[in-house]
Amino acid sequence: MGFGGKIKRNQADKHFSDCIRKSQNWSCQRCGKNYEDKPAGLQCSHFITRGNWAVRYDTSLSLCAYCHNWVEGNPPEHIKLFTAHIGGERELEKFIERSECKGLAQHNRANVKALSAYYKAESERLSEELQKAKEGKQHDLKLYRYIRR
Ligand SMILES: [Zn+2]
Repeated sequence: MGFGGKIKRNQADKHFSDCIRKSQNWSCQRCGKNYEDKPAGLQCSHFITRGNWAVRYDTSLSLCAYCHNWVEGNPPEHIKLFTAHIGGERELEKFIERSECKGLAQHNRANVKALSAYYKAESERLSEELQKAKEGKQHDLKLYRYIRR
């Protein structure tokens, strides 16, 4: 439930957003519309504002501008959609716990360059996987989240 453009977007945010959208094959997770030909119409939707550094690069939804705006105005539906995406109530609880972890937030702030490099590489891998999918080959579009080392 972000607050639009108030929070400065960095390079890691760009690569992370690319990863989120590629992992969903450039489609909106609410209406299903495909945005491969106009990727700017598809957005990375953070469940908790991007200003929360602990989960800034955690799992997020891929939503078109219309559905992004819609879920922000319909919190119960937003929760339902995100809970299904993350894999159930228990996973949602773990996500909320991560969002409250100050150490994780500090770690992410201090390692934003490493996060950017990680998601840049992951974005490149996902592009290759999307190509394999197009060719009917085995592929893996799961987004592997950056894990603190
Ligand atoms: Zn949509």
